[in-house]
Amino acid sequence: MNIILIGAPASGKGTQAVKLAQKFNLVHISTGDLLRNIASEKSDLADEIHSFIDNGKLVPDELIIKLVKEHLNKIDQKSGILFDGFPRTVFQAQQLEKFVNIDYVVEIKVSLESVVKRICDRISCSKCGRTYHISQLKGDLCECGAKLQKRVDDTEELAKDRYQVYYNQTYPIVEYYKNFKGYHSVDGEKSVDDVFEQICGVIK
Ligand code: ADP
Repeated sequence: MNIILIGAPASGKGTQAVKLAQKFNLVHISTGDLLRNIASEKSDLADEIHSFIDNGKLVPDELIIKLVKEHLNKIDQKSGILFDGFPRTVFQAQQLEKFVNIDYVVEIKVSLESVVKRICDRISCSKCGRTYHISQLKGDLCECGAKLQKRVDDTEELAKDRYQVYYNQTYPIVEYYKNFKGYHSVDGEKSVDDVFEQICGVIK
C-alpha cells in the first residue's frame, strides 16, 4: 500500500506519517528530512540544497525526483511507502506515477494562522526530524538522543512564505488528485489522535 500525505508546512504530515508507517508497516519517506540530511554534509549539492530550503523555496523538480528515485533503490520498501512532502508539484506527481502506484492521497487541511503559530512554537530534532511544542520541552535533547534546535526555515516570516509556496505550487496537486478514488481530505486542526483516526478511517 502506497500513500501520499499532502499538507501545508506544519500541518502535521510528519507526525501522522510516523504513526501511519508504524501501524501499516510502511517505509516513511520525508523529502524534507532527506534534503536536510544531505545538506548537513559538506558538498556542492549540500550548498545547492541550502540555497533553497533555507529560504523556504522548493528545490528544483528534477533534483528531488532524482534523489527520491535513488533513495527508493537503496531501501527495503516493506509493505509499501508513505510519502511525506513528496510530490510537491503537479510535475512531481506526474513523474511519481511512472514509478510507483499510489493507493491513497490524504490531504491534511490547516489554516495559515495555525501554520504560523505551530511553526513559531516548535523545535525540531537535528537528526530524526521529530518536532516538539515548546511547552513540552524537558531539556534540549530529542528522545533519540540528538540535539533539538530551531530549523532555519522555522521563522514567522518564512512560515508565511512557505504557506504561500504551498498554495501556489503544491495545492494544485489537490485539484489534480481530486477525482482519484483514493483521494481524501481530513481536518488537521484537530488533535494528533483525532487526525490519526480520521486518516485510519479512510485507509482500508
Ligand atoms: P515543511 O512541510 O514543514 O515545509 P519539509 O521538511 O517537508 O517541511 O520540507 C522542508 C523544505 O524542503 C521545503 O520548504 C523545501 O525547500 C524542501 N522540500 C521538501 N520536499 C520537497 C519536494 N518534494 N520538492 C521540492 N522541495 C522540497
